[in-house]
Amino acid sequence: MNFDYDPENIFAKILNGDIPCEKVLESAHSLAFRDIRPQAPTHVLVIPKGPYMSADHFCQWASEAEIVDFMRTVGKICEAEGVEDGFRLIANARDHGVQEVPHFHVHILAGRPLGRMLDPA
Ligand code: AMP
Repeated sequence: MNFDYDPENIFAKILNGDIPCEKVLESAHSLAFRDIRPQAPTHVLVIPKGPYMSADHFCQWASEAEIVDFMRTVGKICEAEGVEDGFRLIANARDHGVQEVPHFHVHILAGRPLGRMLDPA
């Protein structure tokens, strides 16, 4: 793996139990918990337990078991949270993507109309 993972990032601290989270679901390779600053009635973060910084790293370097587990966890969260009216799945990466926490995560947002994804240029 050719990236420098920061083991002190806040999601690493959640994973090792140093700081708490509002856990929604935990599986062999993934953890889902509520965002501390929710942007919608449902705002759940899903993270892999492995040390991946962003979506491209995860998709390149994670094992098939980790990837399947992660995507199934997203599916279970969607079912449990009731996203029939629609939802948004977001993965921010690095500076241009305005990623705040350098541990790969997806945001699951639902429960209200979410507007356009990006402002028109
Ligand atoms: P991103 O900009 O995609 O890196 O988003 C990081 C998200 O992590 C933001 O929506 C934050 O509100 C959220 N966040 C930061 N610290 C915590 C925490 N301790 N527990 C839950 N969510 C957090």
